Amino acid sequence: MKLEGKTALVTGAGRGIGRAAALCLAREGASVVVNYQNNAAAAEETARDIEAAGAQALIVQASVDNAADVERMVQTVKERFGQIDILVNNAGITRDQLLLRMKEEDWDAVLNTNLKGAFLCCKAVAPLMVKRRTGVIVNVGSVIGTVGAAGQVNYSAAKAGLVGLTKSLAKELGSRSIRVNAVAPGFIETDMTRALKPEQQETVRKQIPLGRLGKPEDVGRVIAFLCSEDAAYIQGILITVDGGLFL
Ligand code: NAP
Repeated sequence: MKLEGKTALVTGAGRGIGRAAALCLAREGASVVVNYQNNAAAAEETARDIEAAGAQALIVQASVDNAADVERMVQTVKERFGQIDILVNNAGITRDQLLLRMKEEDWDAVLNTNLKGAFLCCKAVAPLMVKRRTGVIVNVGSVIGTVGAAGQVNYSAAKAGLVGLTKSLAKELGSRSIRVNAVAPGFIETDMTRALKPEQQETVRKQIPLGRLGKPEDVGRVIAFLCSEDAAYIQGILITVDGGLFL
């Protein structure tokens, strides 16, 4: 139990990678705040599984791109647990379209959720961590932030921005013993990628040296590692979790 006594806030924890991260943190003994935006049933299922693993769960609805929502969420967590030791900025969306057809609202939605959302959560949580001179932040980026993808200028820009945010914040908060890192998943089996046709998924699979798509737990375990003392001297880095797809 590497995270006993810790409180972790995971955004978008009802489904996919966020859910897996929440469960990996719970299995290490952390109390986990399950944030969601719309899917309350999924958040409740994650919370049930956290409790079944012997950890405490608190569900909080909040849209990470809304400053008032984020403030309310952090206040709720403070009232229940008194502290936040771990923040996982996982909430994310895609609105894929080629640039010439991409609407301004598609750009704004993706930048607001994936990048501004992380900024707002860091801004709300960091003061609690700075006060206690301890904390860990993990941002969920994407390999697409590094390699780019046709049809994803919004998503790629947001995820590249998240790397800049991660490195800058790692420099700002390092002297207060707060670690800030990021993971870059490749092609992971979640609702986000299930939108692709089976033949498209098979094309991607053939390009992956490990020969399979990633599972949410493949990323969740790396997030839990970054949150643990095993990663005590890792600061400001991006760990790729893609089965070798973009070697
Ligand atoms: P997913 O299955 O579609 O789940 C997305 C989660 O984000 C949901 O829990 C959703 O909440 C939440 N969310 C979306 N907008 C939100 C908002 N404004 N406020 C709060 N929560 C919000 O996606 P996923 O594949 O697990 O992706 C998780 C993260 O990994 C994202 O940042 C994504 O960009 C990144 N990623 C995924 C892959 C992949 O292959 N799947 C690859 C690279 C990076 P509700 O359940 O309430 O809707």
